[in-house]
Amino acid sequence: MSRIDALALPRRLAAWQWLLAAGPVAIGLYYLLVTVEPGWGFAGVVVVASANGSVVAASLFAARRHRQARSALLFIAAGAAANVSADLIFYFMALVGGEVGYPSIADIGYVAAYPLTAVGLVLIVRRRTPGWDLASVVDAAIVAVGAGFLVYALVIAPMVAVGPDNYTKLVSVSYPIGDLMLVAVGARLLLGAGPRTPSLGALGSYLVLLLIADTVYSVQSFDSTYVPGGTADALWMLSSYILAAGVLHPSVQVMVAPSSTVTPDATPGRLAVLAVAALVAPTTMLVLHMHGGRIPVAAGMIACDLLFLLVLARMAGLVQAQRHAAITDGLTGLRSRRYLTQALHTETARSARSGVPVAMLLLDIDHFKTVNDTYGHHGGDLVLVEIAERLRHLVRPGDLVARYGGEEFAVVLPGADLSEAHAVGERIRRGIAATPMSAGPHRMHAVTVSIGLAGIPHPCDDVDELVLAADRALYAAKHAGRDRVAAAAPVAVHESVLKAVSP
Ligand code: GH3
Ligand code: MG
Ligand code: MG
Repeated sequence: MSRIDALALPRRLAAWQWLLAAGPVAIGLYYLLVTVEPGWGFAGVVVVASANGSVVAASLFAARRHRQARSALLFIAAGAAANVSADLIFYFMALVGGEVGYPSIADIGYVAAYPLTAVGLVLIVRRRTPGWDLASVVDAAIVAVGAGFLVYALVIAPMVAVGPDNYTKLVSVSYPIGDLMLVAVGARLLLGAGPRTPSLGALGSYLVLLLIADTVYSVQSFDSTYVPGGTADALWMLSSYILAAGVLHPSVQVMVAPSSTVTPDATPGRLAVLAVAALVAPTTMLVLHMHGGRIPVAAGMIACDLLFLLVLARMAGLVQAQRHAAITDGLTGLRSRRYLTQALHTETARSARSGVPVAMLLLDIDHFKTVNDTYGHHGGDLVLVEIAERLRHLVRPGDLVARYGGEEFAVVLPGADLSEAHAVGERIRRGIAATPMSAGPHRMHAVTVSIGLAGIPHPCDDVDELVLAADRALYAAKHAGRDRVAAAAPVAVHESVLKAVSP
């Protein structure tokens, strides 16, 4: 591509770009129609319904294209279709009968849109993180409780207090509850693991604009200051066009791809969101108190208790994750060398108390450099993962398998004397050599290991001696020709004298 081509504007706009451009045009047109002709007319209905209509059309189109996102997009389309039908009913009634009462039959469609859209978002979450990702669930719950209290104190409680009748109260309360449902699911989606794509950004912007529009509408309808063509309508329409552009964006495909990380990092941005969310309930109560407002005390206490417990649960989760990372090898999932050292000290202390022996095997893959040289580092990694998997199955429950270093592994056998440990070593040696391992698709490689073993109380006295003796026995096994098990003699007395070399 030449430099001039690269700088030129794209000759054809993509569908999502058209939609982003159409949003402001439709909003302007609607505003003009409403102000020029206060009876709105049919054209106004078409323009206002075009916003949700574009979400229906875009979602159905994208659902055909992206199989992985199909069910989620169909629910989002259904939510938008409920909104379109409500728009049409509402404006039809307004055109025919003048003033529309509240609540009206149109509210059924508007209220139904919330759970439908929420299910669509949940399905996207399930695609991105098929596991539970509890940390993100807790984060989303913190945001939802904070937002929930705010909405309860400022919107729901006043509505319930002064609403004309129970039916009206119920319908009025359904909207903030619908919003909260979307806040909870949206927070889980945006705070969970998974790729940050333009489509996800569009979904986030849609949710934020929708919530602002709903809040503006709630306040205005409460004060009886709502007029069609105002801020709330503009925000609703804009949010719909952004959502439509988002689902048409090609990155939908990536947005629903399973995430490789299970739990997202505790980044400063995430901590800031959580800090704000956790402070919302107590701060709202303080502000209400200072301005002489009515404080919903019981709801406030419950919110603060929940937030406190959720923050504790999150902290416990982080500490546990740190500990798990410290004692687990990232590549193979085996225990780390650090854990091995701790376990060896525990086992030798137990052995000293009870007199029961403990043995240790040290394994090193033979000619592993050849594997890396032939299949690349990634091929070598695949072999390491498969060795780890075989080791797990070749030892008894209660034995410990750890990754000792690059391509070296260690096995601790509590209760095993030298001859039992030798038998386990032989079983492992054969189990590894039995069948070739995969170093990639259609790349099988025969792998062997050399194994050194040592034990406490015989021939070693403590952990340092045990590790040194196993290492020397391993060296001897290599020296004797590889693919064999060697047992150590006492370190100090008979330096590297082999008691047994097999096969
Ligand atoms: P020997 O039979 O004497 O053990 O020969 P060898 O080729 O296996 O030699 P050595 O044990 O010294 O090999 C270590 C090699 O293991 C070199 C290093 O590149 C490779 N290695 C260490 N850690 C990793 C790892 O995490 N992944 C991969 N792919 N290779 C690793
Ligand atoms: Mg080595
Ligand atoms: Mg090696």
